[in-house]
Amino acid sequence: MRGVVMHGPGDVRVEEREKPTITRPTDAVIKLAATCICGSDLWPYRGADKVDATPMGHEYVGVVEQIGDAVKNVRVGDFVVGSFMASDNTCEICAAGYQSRCVHVVPMGRVGTQAEYALIPHADGTLVATPGQPDADLIPSLLAASDVLGTGWFAAVAAEVGPGKTVAVVGDEAVGLLGILAASQLGAERIIAMGRHADRQELARRFGATNIVEECGDAGVEKIKELTDGLGAHSVIEAVGTQESMMQAIHSARPGGHVGFVGVSHDVSLPGREMFYSTVHLHGGPAPVRRFLPDLIQLIWDRKIDPGAVFDLTLPLEQAAEGYRAMDERRATKVLLTL
Ligand SMILES: [Zn+2]
Repeated sequence: MRGVVMHGPGDVRVEEREKPTITRPTDAVIKLAATCICGSDLWPYRGADKVDATPMGHEYVGVVEQIGDAVKNVRVGDFVVGSFMASDNTCEICAAGYQSRCVHVVPMGRVGTQAEYALIPHADGTLVATPGQPDADLIPSLLAASDVLGTGWFAAVAAEVGPGKTVAVVGDEAVGLLGILAASQLGAERIIAMGRHADRQELARRFGATNIVEECGDAGVEKIKELTDGLGAHSVIEAVGTQESMMQAIHSARPGGHVGFVGVSHDVSLPGREMFYSTVHLHGGPAPVRRFLPDLIQLIWDRKIDPGAVFDLTLPLEQAAEGYRAMDERRATKVLLTL
């Protein structure tokens, strides 16, 4: 089968990879209907994470081709969506809603879903079947549920977004934009998007942003304070993962406010004394997307949300290298790869 392999920073190739087969009775093999490139795939692309002929990709939708003997919740032929973290969905951590930290977790990045087929461990716990075969135009939105929508949703929940709340969103890439969509669905009164790209601002407004702040860092924080009677936002979504974005998020929250942080932290260190006096709640990490998947799939199926709008470039899998370049150069927000 064909699959994306990263050999080093900036070196993405589409190569022959071994087609996966069932190795445990709890596995399934799916034939991908679509896959995509994640903002987090840019960390190794830019040399921030190590790679060595690493299969890439952790987002996926597709049709179940084969199941192990123990798999009961999905059948061959089902159209399925799964999280970027495979989980049993039965352990105590899963039962508490933290499937991304399942005691048997398997990061799907290790499988590499930018490929024609993917092995899905813990198929019963990981995969959620859609109510039927989706119309083609729903596939991008279902694919978004696999990671970026679920991650934006978790960020909003972690930030305790709700009716009457003012929400600030740090980061205008796919997760931040879908955090806006989540905040809107969760009933936020005001949603302030932070970012300066005109096309992303337009999408932010379409997803429910009521205000745009173009400044970043301390100047951005000042603007948030101006918009909130000097108090700061009730809820802040952090979707970048750098020192600057994290401090911008914490400083944008009011005392007693909540920050949901889902940008993968890279060299972030928090000043203890400042954290102490901030009285801000912090909650984040790899999103337990599986917790939200059934509800998100239904919202998409009923055409109540359109998270697939974050894909602004679609390429065949064979042109994955161009997709990485486009995202790296910020010519594309998020790239969908067709098969
Ligand atoms: Zn578990």
